[in-house]
Amino acid sequence: MLRLLLLAALVAVVASLAACSDAAPQRKKRRPVDRMVFRDGPDENAFERIPLPPQRVRVQARSHSTTVGNVAGTPNFQMPVAICQPQKDQPSRSIGPTTDGQLVDGCRIPSTGLGYIAVNGNAYGTNSTVALLEMAAAQTIRQFQGAPAVVIGAISADGGGFLKPHKSHQSGRDVDIAYLRTTKGQPKRFELTDSSNLDAERTWSFLEALLSTGEVGLVFMDYEIQALLYDALLDNGWTEQSLSPIFQYPAGASVPRGVIRHATGHADHFHVRFRCPEGDKPDCVD
Ligand SMILES: [Zn+2]
Repeated sequence: MLRLLLLAALVAVVASLAACSDAAPQRKKRRPVDRMVFRDGPDENAFERIPLPPQRVRVQARSHSTTVGNVAGTPNFQMPVAICQPQKDQPSRSIGPTTDGQLVDGCRIPSTGLGYIAVNGNAYGTNSTVALLEMAAAQTIRQFQGAPAVVIGAISADGGGFLKPHKSHQSGRDVDIAYLRTTKGQPKRFELTDSSNLDAERTWSFLEALLSTGEVGLVFMDYEIQALLYDALLDNGWTEQSLSPIFQYPAGASVPRGVIRHATGHADHFHVRFRCPEGDKPDCVD
């Protein structure tokens, strides 16, 4: 009888251990989107101080045949109207630089919209930041119907200001976005991306929609992923000359060239920094 009881207890212990080891990977999956990718370090400090290219770079959009609202990629581009949650009447104001700024009357991007999901609670941007993200996501999903939604991470806190663990993201003009990947299913968070799973076509579609507006100041992207995108674009008829104002690659990961720059910690998401909205200058600092 005692042996039977001991045996039963042993079985119970083994079963509970097995349950624990099953549960462990699920806990890991629920890690907050940003904590895994932003580490304080000299590289991050350096990349936050990169000055914007002096010229607005506007890519002639060419891969998408459908557009949403006003046509992006034309000289007559007009800012679409942002859908905010809740919708608001007053315009936002971005104040100061992205590393020491505020956001007045920010627009909270809805947690789901056409072609995107926003997975971070710090989802406040300027009206134009949110309008441009919504436009780019909508254009991309119309071009690639049935594809997963774009995963949008941190923008800014309500009111802006310091947002742990970032150096920037303070004035509603910085956005973290997951690379668009070839893996099946709807991603919910950022995941390490490389040549085996980068969907270069869709990632470029989204980026091109943003770049075609001339409103993007900088994009931070791992140098190796820049190379993957760059090579895919060359294969699709782009020339080195047409890509040189856009990509830092292949000049070198520390060469200050192009809108898209290398920064460590950007192998699972890219970071888009929008220029100051014209109406917010001179309080807003690029
Ligand atoms: Zn960021």
